[in-house]
This record gives sequence, structure tokens and C-alpha cells, in this order.
Amino acid sequence: MAVDPLIELRDVNKYFGTLHVLRDINLTVDRGEVVVVIGPSGSGKSTLCRAINRLETIQSGRITVDGEPLPEEGRALAALRSEVGMVFQSFNLFAHKTVLDNVMLAQLKVRKRRKDEAERRARELLDRVGLAAHATKYPAQLSGGQQQRVAIARALAMDPKVMLFDEPTSALDPEMINEVLEVMRQLARDGMTMVVVTHEMGFARSAANRVVFMADGAIVEDRAPEEFFTAPRSDRARDFLSKIL
Ligand code: ADP
Ligand code: MG
Repeated sequence: MAVDPLIELRDVNKYFGTLHVLRDINLTVDRGEVVVVIGPSGSGKSTLCRAINRLETIQSGRITVDGEPLPEEGRALAALRSEVGMVFQSFNLFAHKTVLDNVMLAQLKVRKRRKDEAERRARELLDRVGLAAHATKYPAQLSGGQQQRVAIARALAMDPKVMLFDEPTSALDPEMINEVLEVMRQLARDGMTMVVVTHEMGFARSAANRVVFMADGAIVEDRAPEEFFTAPRSDRARDFLSKIL
């Protein structure tokens, strides 16, 4: 079903020492697709995301982004990182910089945009995530949900080809989860290619084109959400769903 693959992993294996954390991973994400990755803690979800961004090296197999193999280092690696946006559980905003500066910084340093251009783009994105009125505030003056939306705007400012989200709402108080998921839903509707690790099954059901279920470093199921949630095929997935739903 690979119509227009943007990310491809072929027979990817990753070890931490003797620990085999990614086992023969084969995964294709097409342009415009939203793939939700779920699975128990320690199953390799974060490592999978980090490998796509080359924050982790792999021992065997092949990963391509938009047809290009992942670069080893240097300029090409920096370019890849800016094309693959990543949002983590912890927002990691610069505490001593304003919201606006947080969203401008990488545009100036990595994209080498002019200041006025970077500011225009930053304001546009802050508006898109509902934070136009907070541009001159500092991260500590914002709620967790607002900070995570700034982190999303910051990643989008690089004009990434794909966005990776690793449990973006796991550190948030319950009442803030929805505002972040809503921004992500809107991104998905706008056609962004997304890989999302999350325990938010409502989001998986409503926004995902596919659900990838991982256990012990392997992809156990890779199917449409309605099929996965109504009739998981594997014992591992049934067991997992019975615990979280
Ligand atoms: P998940 O995100 O699904 O919880 P991770 O990808 O974080 O899983 O971890 C997969 C496995 O790799 C776990 O057993 C974890 O303890 C191990 N692991 C993750 N990062 C490292 C690391 N830097 N060094 C050694 N082991 C690690
Ligand atoms: Mg993780």
C-alpha cells in the first residue's frame, strides 16, 4: 500500500549492548499519513522515533526519509534533523527566552532566515497553535499544555516533512491534554505526515490512518485503527488493550 513513502524502515535492528531493542523493524509511512505507535513501556517506541531522527544509530537495516538514506553526520545530519520535527514528553523550551524567541531561534541558526522573516513565521505558527497572545511571555508563565504547543510551533518552524511525537501529552495534567491533541488533529487534517507515540486511544481511533503495536522491540500489528481496536489479532495486543481501555 506504499503510495508515496516518506519514511521507510527495512529490517532495522538496534541493540543497546546485548539488549535487542528493535527487532527486524519494517515500516513505511506514506506522505500525509498519520501512524500511531502504541505498546507497553520498554517495547522500543521511543528508540524507533529516535532512530528515524538519527538520535540513535542502528546496527543493521536501512532507514530512508523522502528517499534519502539517513546521513552519518555533519551538515546533512543537521538538515535531516530540521526536516524531521520531533516533539517529546518534556518540552525543553529555553527558559530564559520568550515564546517568540523560542520559535525563532532555530529558524535563524539552522535555516538562516532573516530576523523579520523568522518572526513573521513564528507569529503565524503561534497563532496556529492558539498562542498568538503569549508571544512575549516566558515558558514558566505558561501552562504545560501551552508550553507543549510552543514546542510544536517550534518544530513546525523548520518546515519539517514529517513530525514525530513521543508521548507529547504524558507529562500534562488531564485538563491540558485535549488542547495539545486538538493542535495535532488539526495538523493531521492539514496533511502533515505524522508518527505519534501515545497512550491516548481516542486520538488513535480518530486521527490515525494506521496503528502500529509494538512489543519487545518488534512490530506485532500494523493495521487500520478500527480493525485493531475491535479485533486485535495478537495476545500481546489484546492483553495491552485490556489494561488500558
Ligand atoms: P518505550 O519508549 O517503548 O518505553 P524505549 O525505546 O524507551 O521503549 O526503550 C526500549 C528498551 O531499550 C528498554 O528496555 C529500555 O530500557 C532500553 N533503553 C532505552 N534507551 C537506552 C539507552 N540509552 N541505553 C540502554 N538501554 C536503553
Ligand atoms: Mg518511550
